[in-house]
Amino acid sequence: MVYLVGAGPGDPRLITVKGLECIKKADVLIYDYLVNVDLLKVAKPNAEFIYVGKQGGAHTLEQDEINNLLVKKAQEDKIVTRLKGGDPYVFGRGGEEAIVLYENHIPFEVVPGITAAIATPNYAGIPVTHRDFTSTFGLITGHEDPTKDESSIDWSKISTGIGTLAFYMGIKNLPYITEQLIKHGRSKDTPVAVIRWGTTAQQKTVVGTLETIVQKARDIRPPAITIVGEVVKLRNQLNWFETKPLFGKTVVVTRSREQASEFADQLYEYGARVIEFPTIEIAKPDTIQPLDDAITNIHAYDWLVFTSINGVDSFFQRLLELGKDIRDLKGIKFCAIGPATEEGIRRYHIKVDCRPPKFVAESVVEELKKVTVIKGKKFLLPRADIARSFLPEELEKLGGKVADVVAYKTVMAQPKDINLVDKIKHGEINFITFTSSSTVRNFVQIIGEKNIASLNGKVQYASIGPITTQTAEELGFRITIKAKEYTIPGLVNAILESSIPHSDS
Ligand code: SAH
Repeated sequence: MVYLVGAGPGDPRLITVKGLECIKKADVLIYDYLVNVDLLKVAKPNAEFIYVGKQGGAHTLEQDEINNLLVKKAQEDKIVTRLKGGDPYVFGRGGEEAIVLYENHIPFEVVPGITAAIATPNYAGIPVTHRDFTSTFGLITGHEDPTKDESSIDWSKISTGIGTLAFYMGIKNLPYITEQLIKHGRSKDTPVAVIRWGTTAQQKTVVGTLETIVQKARDIRPPAITIVGEVVKLRNQLNWFETKPLFGKTVVVTRSREQASEFADQLYEYGARVIEFPTIEIAKPDTIQPLDDAITNIHAYDWLVFTSINGVDSFFQRLLELGKDIRDLKGIKFCAIGPATEEGIRRYHIKVDCRPPKFVAESVVEELKKVTVIKGKKFLLPRADIARSFLPEELEKLGGKVADVVAYKTVMAQPKDINLVDKIKHGEINFITFTSSSTVRNFVQIIGEKNIASLNGKVQYASIGPITTQTAEELGFRITIKAKEYTIPGLVNAILESSIPHSDS
């Protein structure tokens, strides 16, 4: 079975529900240059990925080879999902691939996608039709097959016969296209927009007229689409995407891959481009015995105190692995350091009895003092191997009995080879975020201590809370953005505030 799937124009959330299902069930994924690779994250872990990127003239595989590959993989009884940018049948050679499948008696389905001519002007503030401006809309290739003898585009008809014109693959030919349109009767004052990497955080839009656009868009390289027509004027009112507060900004997220997505999603809402650069990985502790002993004797404890969602998940995973479940926790009180940890506990259908107003260990002690007598109580703290000693020490000073057990350990992630230091030096990164002291320490390890000082001032460092800030400053970072509330939403807010220009009044 082969699914020819339109992956949409760039923003990975613009794929169809059906398209996403085809990615999830595929044994083999064959994808192009314009397909956002974030979409591949939902594929099965053992799926095979084959990149057949076509970028301008440089093909990794020729079209014949792609066709043969589809046939071969399908004949191996695999579910093949062929992902193409935009819609498979709009200038995507999807028709050719489908015919080859038909000729080889291979069952196939074609899943439509949102094509660039519809999605990218939208994200640039341009509706392709509007009653006051135009009732017609044409999709045109700006790059005719070079082997064709004569143009199959009837310029005399499209120049004045269609209101909105969208030219795909037309950047190199822009001088020719504008010349033909003017020559065949379109006013030289007709508004034109050229949109590059539309619907992504790297979107760039240049606006001009048929007369001026060649000059104005001279620095724009493919992939870009050209929109010609009066509707382009509506961009002044309808530009909802490029006006998002973090549009055009790049934010590096250093927390573990498992935890990055919630943060990345919030940054995406504000239009930021997110680079995931995990510095830590969550792993099982070197020895699980202390946690196992604590769980076996769980009824000896009065309080379970969690200082991170990783602690929660590691604890409950082990509880279940030992053949127990939440019924074995009856009567024990729960404390969570902050809202994310609380939410993590609630997912196991357990209500939290204590949550401090400030999300640091100091505040946990204060709050616990309010809700219970600490003296004589037994506290279990399933935590990271490198957790601070403050909390157990304070509780013990107050007469509590504390079992501080290692529920998980954080290890340094394998650095991703994305030339982060070069990108920072070239001003391509706006913010680097630290969400714990270990993200700071590992970041230093990965990018090298000698680089830290030279990067101050080139990028803004943002910290989730005072302990993280202290660690960072000790290691030579200048932290310019500090979350007021020590949570991910608090950190996102601090970044937002720092990027809104302050008025002097
Ligand atoms: N099947 C695709 C089009 C493939 S042809 C679709 O339906 O959108 C490739 C051309 O599409 C590019 O040269 C460019 O003109 C346009 N294009 C595709 N994605 C784009 C994007 N995100 N931004 C701007 N143009 C894009």
